[in-house]
Amino acid sequence: MNLPWNDVDTVLLDMDGTLLDLHYDNYFWRHYLHQRYAAEEGITEEAVRAWLLPKMHELRGTLEWYCVEFWSRLLGRDIGPYKEEVADRIGWRPGAQAFLEGLAAAGKRRVLVTNAHPRTVELKFRRTGLDRHLDAVITAHDFRRPKEDAGFWTALREAESFDPERAVLFDDNATALGRAREHGIRWLYGIAQPDLQEAPLQWDDFPAVDDFDGFTPKVDTAAAPR
Ligand SMILES: [Mg+2]
Repeated sequence: MNLPWNDVDTVLLDMDGTLLDLHYDNYFWRHYLHQRYAAEEGITEEAVRAWLLPKMHELRGTLEWYCVEFWSRLLGRDIGPYKEEVADRIGWRPGAQAFLEGLAAAGKRRVLVTNAHPRTVELKFRRTGLDRHLDAVITAHDFRRPKEDAGFWTALREAESFDPERAVLFDDNATALGRAREHGIRWLYGIAQPDLQEAPLQWDDFPAVDDFDGFTPKVDTAAAPR
């Protein structure tokens, strides 16, 4: 499986669950946050879950759901330090780094499009050096709209002038892929196993990438644009 790279200029890349292992995020939001808050408040983890899980469920896919400041306000404390405490769980997905290097060698524009909060983006860049492999970084917070919202893609077209017919999106979020398709992004790929410690996802509407090995553009170095 590979793309006709001569027909692609712009590569839109999600961060969590696509370039980076979703394990960190799943662990933090499903376990660590509840555990840490319960310990600090002297209440049971079950009590925290009973309160927080319905809220999380209700807000899934909204900008609040992705917002560190929102959850900090709700919990009455800054959860940024909590995120740092388990930052050793942040890691790359297989082949992602080499893929980004291959894209650069082939002269493709690498644009991160993420719902992650800017503070989380900063933490992940610091831990992985991902920012050194990107040409542009767009967060949903820049547009006040998550990728699940059509408005994100309209705003993206204004911020980044690119031809959707010559663009590809890699994202583990099926709703975001659907929105991108509605906005004319030509090539769309899901991610087979966003969380390396969990079972692979079932993809119906989009082909899914296992690792990025098969996707790296084959470049004739003599003919490379730079
Ligand atoms: Mg993701």
